[in-house]
Amino acid sequence: MLSNEDILRLRTDFPILEEKIYGKPLIYFDNGATTQKPVQVLSKIEYAYKHLNANIHRGVHYLSQKATEAHEEARSTVADFLGAAQREEVIFTRGTTEAINLVAFSYGEAFCTEGDEIVVSVLEHHSNIVPWQMLCERKGLVLRVIPMNERGELDLEAYASLLNGRTRLVSVAHVSNVLGTVNPVGEMIRMAHDKGIKVLIDGAQAVPHIPVDVQQLDADFYVFSAHKIYGPTGIGILYGKQELLNAMPPCQGGGEMIDKVSFEKTTYNVLPFKFEAGTPDYIGSTALAEALRYVSAIGLDAIAGYEQALTEYATEQLMQIDRMRIIGTAREKSAVLSFLVGDIHPYDLGMLLDKMGIAVRTGHHCAQPLIDSLHIPGTVRASFSFYNTRDEVDLFIKALQRIVPMLS
Ligand code: PLP
Repeated sequence: MLSNEDILRLRTDFPILEEKIYGKPLIYFDNGATTQKPVQVLSKIEYAYKHLNANIHRGVHYLSQKATEAHEEARSTVADFLGAAQREEVIFTRGTTEAINLVAFSYGEAFCTEGDEIVVSVLEHHSNIVPWQMLCERKGLVLRVIPMNERGELDLEAYASLLNGRTRLVSVAHVSNVLGTVNPVGEMIRMAHDKGIKVLIDGAQAVPHIPVDVQQLDADFYVFSAHKIYGPTGIGILYGKQELLNAMPPCQGGGEMIDKVSFEKTTYNVLPFKFEAGTPDYIGSTALAEALRYVSAIGLDAIAGYEQALTEYATEQLMQIDRMRIIGTAREKSAVLSFLVGDIHPYDLGMLLDKMGIAVRTGHHCAQPLIDSLHIPGTVRASFSFYNTRDEVDLFIKALQRIVPMLS
């Protein structure tokens, strides 16, 4: 378990936490949207540009080889972090969104025909809905939706009944970005595999908070974004089982993804390069690897334990506020706390919290179907990191106690 001293020491790694917002100390509770970056990651970016910058792959010169080594080492770091069997199963993308779009296009081309079905859940981020809708439109597929109960837990009986001979893929979030629900993805993968159905897990909100092992889960695809796990923006990961990725066509053409090009016929490169057209973000990949080393050194079990306790504390304190309604009360929850107070609009709460230096997110959180199903205008969402403290939660509660009567 991380002690208070550990947390205070770790906070000093994050320069932005020293910022003042309208003259008040920043309280950053918007970690679900993006996390702040430790000096280790910032220094790595600067180091890479100062000492390792040359376009990678195919370069005969020293710098190009060094940059290539760093990029490919980063791939191995990601593979180890996820527990992948092969480093070639790790594809660099621009983020979770691009990774899901890649699978929707390429898996869709290889394995889906008219009348087939794709299963998602009601609590998905738009990134895990719209690419499938586009595939459905393109190829005449049907999108099926797993419902949830009033706590925000997926209905596994309904899920079982959705799996049939036409189901080609299940694509679900590991952790909901709105409700914080940790879905039982291991069990859901087993249920799908029993019927020969492949599964993609959207790990955007999971990897920063809980240890993930793709082989233990037996996930067919697992995706996440670097910027949500203390790494840089603009880079993310698609993990896919080798035999599946091998069977899928590339979805972008260009440099590096080819074997031989002629005007008559072009052949494609092997994994992972087949899916990485163009100059990759080799600075981003080295910085992502540094971020993964950083969280691994703290320990994801320790992070999970600390954040769990902080979220429970924040939940108890929030419940003291009159007319408080927590949205999402799943038994398995991660470090996300969505709420509404009476009929105060979430935007108004968010605006006034901001004036007190407290950064929360308000609105539909890119999950409009979920928000619509709850018949609410949106939520205020506080999402925590290990660098958040009980003192910050106390200040947040005090701020709400001042704001709520003003808006009521
Ligand atoms: N999936 C989930 C569950 C998310 O929370 C997010 C971002 O908030 C995404 C996907 C999209 O991530 P990105 O915008 O980094 O591609």
